[in-house]
This record gives sequence, structure tokens and C-alpha cells, in this order.
Amino acid sequence: MPIALQTRSLTKRFARHIAVDDVSMAVPTQAIYGFLGANGAGKTTTLRLALGLLRADSGWVELFGRRVGRDTLPRVGALIENPSLYPHLTGRENLDITRRLLGLDHGEIDRVLAIVDLASAGRQRVGGYSLGMRQRLAIARALLGRPQLLILDEPTNGLDPEGIVDMRSLIRRLPATDGATLIVSSHHLAEIEQVATHVGLIHHGRLLLEQPLDALLGQQTAVEIATDDLVASAELLDRAGYAVAYDLSGRLLLVTASPDQPTASAPIAALLVGERQVLHHLALRRPTLEHAYHRAIAAA
Ligand code: ATP
Repeated sequence: MPIALQTRSLTKRFARHIAVDDVSMAVPTQAIYGFLGANGAGKTTTLRLALGLLRADSGWVELFGRRVGRDTLPRVGALIENPSLYPHLTGRENLDITRRLLGLDHGEIDRVLAIVDLASAGRQRVGGYSLGMRQRLAIARALLGRPQLLILDEPTNGLDPEGIVDMRSLIRRLPATDGATLIVSSHHLAEIEQVATHVGLIHHGRLLLEQPLDALLGQQTAVEIATDDLVASAELLDRAGYAVAYDLSGRLLLVTASPDQPTASAPIAALLVGERQVLHHLALRRPTLEHAYHRAIAAA
């Protein structure tokens, strides 16, 4: 599949702190690429480097097979950090400023407002918009001129549950509507799991994994366990090299690298029983992105 965005050994320091450390990422065209990482992991800095908004200390970025430059940037739309919108202007007037700068037809405003479901609110002042509406207007602005790559940095930050649902459905339909590739950065793993086709995970500035989501989840099995002595069992499993967590119901949850179920569960059961643990529950679960994330971080 052709690559929309490629970085090679991208590195950025702020004073002595390495914010982005030797990151080589590849975002296939038409992907919805979930760019995951905790606060401060280096997501925004990577995206700013990719857009040429920051200069890298070393490494390089290619957009659509070319080094980032004047000819590649018009093909990219971005929403990075808080969007700056004029509250005293209407949604349409805000969009019109960028439309004129880009030399686009008036029809472009109707097109992007329809995509983000703001056609009927376009003549209202932005000062009266909810946060979710403002985020969607900022995405509409990023869509002006039909960019082939759209970069959304934490688009669900601060949204209420309804705003999150709207944003999720917007993200899902964007590639189909505009044929675009999408990069969505987030620390909300469950949100990303619902929309992404590919994921990249950044931790302390380093890209720990990058894979199609199906392949990532298909390589693992989550095993849920309850014993009489969870603390002792957790210690045993931890010493045996398993990444152990407690799930919401207070059971132990392990994620193994075994994709098939007997090889995932049999050694765990044998280990616990062999160490005289009273095992009264063992069940296999489809792993989630959260499991995969914690496993990757634990192995880092
Ligand atoms: P968040 O989700 O909190 O936005 P992030 O993954 O986007 O986090 P970055 O904003 O890229 O993380 O920050 C990575 C690291 O670089 C952090 O430790 C941050 O404090 C530091 N950093 C980012 N920008 C600057 C700057 N302009 N000057 C100094 N340090 C910075």
C-alpha cells in the first residue's frame, strides 16, 4: 500500500530532554492511524515535526513520497492543539477566512460544513457553539481544499460523551467521504480501538509498536484468572514473565503473546496449580487495545 506519511529516525530535543527519539513511522494511504501515547509521550511534537512546524534535530519526513515542502503541505490538513476560531464571527465566516487564503470556491464551505454536520449551524456565531461543535468546525476548516492527509491531535479532548460519539462517527466516515488518510492522536485507547485501522504507540519519545490493529490484537490472548490468593498468584505469574493486571471485577488479567487459546492458557494453569494455587476461574478473552498497550509498555 502506498505510504502517505513516512518519518525516518526523527529526533527532537528540548534542552536536554529528548521529546522524540529516533521515530520511524509509516502511515499507509487511506488508513485511520491511531497515534497513541500517554500525556507527554511525544505525540504532538512528532506531528508538529511531520508538518514542518518544528525543525527536527535529525531524521526526516516524507509526505506522499517527497520531503516536506511547499508543494506537499497543501495536501495536508491539521488540527493541532486548541483550534483558534473567532467567537464573534459565524462558523461560515470563520471558514471563509481560510477559503479565501486558499483561493477556493464558495461551494467548498457548504461541502465541509455538511461533512461535519454543521450545515444548519453555519450562520450562528461560534461564541455560542458547544466545544464539540467548535472541534467539528476546526475539522471542517482543516478539510477545506480536500487534503489527502488529515492530522487530528487529540480531537476528543474535553468533549462530553455526546461530543465524543459525534467525533467518533465523523472520524469513521472521513476517509470514505474525502478519500483521505487520517492520523488521530489520542490517549483514549477505547476510542482509538473503535475507529483505527492501524496503530502506532509512542512512549517516552520512542515508537514502541506500529501495526494494523487486527494483526496486533490477533497476535495475543487475554487470560482472566481468579484464585484463592490473588496476590500470591500475581507474584508467581509476574516472576514467570507475564504482564499481570487486575481487571475491574478484581480478577487477574494476563496478556500472552500466544494467538491460539490452548497455548495461552495451559502453561498458566499448570504454573498456578503446580505452585498449589487454588484456581477457580480461568477464561479467555479477546484482547483489547488496552491490553496490547500495557503489554507493550511493560516489555519496553
Ligand atoms: P499531551 O497528550 O500531553 O499533549 P504529547 O504526547 O503530545 O502529550 P508532547 O506535547 O509532544 O507530548 O511533549 C513531549 C515532551 O516534550 C513533554 O515532556 C513536553 O513537556 C516536552 N515539550 C513539548 N514541547 C516543548 C517545548 N516547546 N519546550 C520544552 N519542552 C517541550
